[in-house]
Amino acid sequence: MKNAIETQSEATKRETERLNRVADSKAYTVPPCPGWCKEAAGHDYDSIDPGNGGALERHHSWDAPDIGEQHHAWASISACEVSLDGVVTLKAPYIYASADEELTARQARAYSAELLLAANKLDEINGAK
Ligand SMILES: [Zn+2]
Repeated sequence: MKNAIETQSEATKRETERLNRVADSKAYTVPPCPGWCKEAAGHDYDSIDPGNGGALERHHSWDAPDIGEQHHAWASISACEVSLDGVVTLKAPYIYASADEELTARQARAYSAELLLAANKLDEINGAK
């Protein structure tokens, strides 16, 4: 039993070392962002997915403009880009939205308007007509 635990520990250690080498190597190129991304051009990969072979990940994003005088809610679009062994995959963009649990009618209308803007933007990104 002890050997099995040590073997697993060694495997975990090797995997961690491999992931660190991947992260440190910069042996990848960061492709251009989609035109709708608000992040700085060429923003780097920011995470590693050990469950996906150490794939590098970054998220492209766009925020709906704030409507109303206070921030009680927001709607944005996000898409995850995955780079694994030199193959870059941009996953489908989606709307990410959140709001306070208690909204006034005015705040709810503002949130609805932000969601509508995000929905229209997502259609635009996806080429909907
Ligand atoms: Zn981006």
